[in-house]
Amino acid sequence: MSKLCLILPNQLSLSTSSLQAIDPKIDHILIAETLDHFTHVKHHQKKIAFLLSAMRHFAQELDNLKLNCTYINIEQQLPAIEDAIEHTLKESNFTEIYVTYPADYRTLQQIQALKKRISTPIHILPDENFLCETEEFEKWAGHKKQLRMEFFYRSMRQKYQILMEGKEPIGGKWNFDTQNRKKAPKSLQVPDTYHAKPNKITLKAIADTQQYFNHHFGDLEPFFFAVTRQQALKALDQFIQERLCLFGDYQDAMVEKEPFMFHAHISFYLNCGLLQPLECIQAAETAYHSHQAPLNAVEGFIRQILGWREYVRGIYWLKMPEYASMNFLGAKNKLPSFYWNADTKMNCLKQCVTETKNNAYAHHIQRLMVLGNFALIAGIDPKYVNEWYLIVYADAYEWVEMPNVSGMVLFADGGLLASKPYAASGSYIHKMSNYCQNCEFNVKDKLGEKACPFNYLYWDFLIRNKKVLSSNQRLGFMYAMINKMPEEQVTAIQNQAEKFLQQQT
Ligand code: FAD
Ligand code: SF4
Repeated sequence: MSKLCLILPNQLSLSTSSLQAIDPKIDHILIAETLDHFTHVKHHQKKIAFLLSAMRHFAQELDNLKLNCTYINIEQQLPAIEDAIEHTLKESNFTEIYVTYPADYRTLQQIQALKKRISTPIHILPDENFLCETEEFEKWAGHKKQLRMEFFYRSMRQKYQILMEGKEPIGGKWNFDTQNRKKAPKSLQVPDTYHAKPNKITLKAIADTQQYFNHHFGDLEPFFFAVTRQQALKALDQFIQERLCLFGDYQDAMVEKEPFMFHAHISFYLNCGLLQPLECIQAAETAYHSHQAPLNAVEGFIRQILGWREYVRGIYWLKMPEYASMNFLGAKNKLPSFYWNADTKMNCLKQCVTETKNNAYAHHIQRLMVLGNFALIAGIDPKYVNEWYLIVYADAYEWVEMPNVSGMVLFADGGLLASKPYAASGSYIHKMSNYCQNCEFNVKDKLGEKACPFNYLYWDFLIRNKKVLSSNQRLGFMYAMINKMPEEQVTAIQNQAEKFLQQQT
């Protein structure tokens, strides 16, 4: 009798630990397009088509290697992963089942519940496609009160000897972010991202998405994502050759009609196993050593993958399940409908929601300082914000989405992840983008009909949360300003913010 290896939709790699644990010549592989993967929240149509196509291409790769694989197609309409396993166990007997650690707590619970229900032992293996195992992160976190990414990142640089000269960081500093805050000049030319031409398999995945999920958010076409490892490697290479050199300079810049800027556009490939984190890091490091890209760009890019990506995963597994219900600021407003239909006069939000709908993508600073910043200062309940982010992005998996949303954006964890809320008025968006020049509001106005809503919402946010935030040293200057504000000004800010928020449905 043979073993069964279950491959989840985010584990499309030949190096996945569950696949490594079996003997491919005699054992069996199961891949299933069960409905829950696509509907536990109603994922963006582009994400579904991407995953269906990538899963089917991966199954084809296994078939070419002459491995035994059962592939359950969406047409079978199996509700959940447990159903797929039980269905397969009815067809044949297996001595053991192997699965790599899933991407969210919900799936882990499903597998653990099944483990109790069936007699075939299920082994849940570490996901070795990450660079810091959950137990290692737990050890690093220890009893620290604050888990700062910067220190974790330094330990990872040392562990993997990335951009190091012995024990010291190359260039004498760990972080070159002060050079990475340039506004884009008008003349800036942004090279295109990688576009793959859909083949037969992808066209069928698009048709299936249309058939089963056309009521989900987002535009399905044009579809240009890489769907195989070879294509994802080309996407990575194109980024390294053409855009990495300016990744640092314009990392925080936003330009109307330039959705990708100098970002890599690879998170969906990393998060489903088509790319490995270490190969992306090493490709960037090689570009530095061969003088293709400067240190501020390379270090900045590497920090996102070796630092932030591993760190947020560590936080997620360390703090789940409590993390999901944290709401430190007691935010309770509903998500305005413009997050779905882009119907707002605020041009920055209109642009970012439209691009999200078109591409299932927005770059980091759009997610953080426009879409996230608004949700924070408008006091939107973290459960609605988390659901929205999980739905709309092709790279969204709870392990990475939730710490970014609840921790980095909403301060819902009370400062475990960020030392202060990333709240900002319109002047930040004005400084880093050209959105304000096409907006009906005036970014310079603080109050009144034409005033930029980010301005009064920002102050209202600080006033509203004075009790819990005024002791935060990093906000001391802002609270000193509030304390000096005439009472009428405070009331005017609160009234305009309240009126504005009431108009948002
Ligand atoms: P680049 O900017 O080119 O960065 C390179 C890589 O670094 C990314 O591909 C990604 O793997 C990694 N990275 C960068 N920033 C982060 C970060 N903060 N956390 C984890 N990894 C990071 N990323 C996701 O992969 N899935 C999500 O669901 C997700 N949700 C987010 C929600 C919010 C509110 C915010 C502020 C950020 C979120 N991010 C998420 C992080 C980041 O915005 C995306 O990884 C990035 O925009 C992906 O585009 P890129 O590949 O062009 O990244
Ligand atoms: Fe956004 Fe305010 Fe600028 Fe309009 S004026 S684009 S609302 S920041």
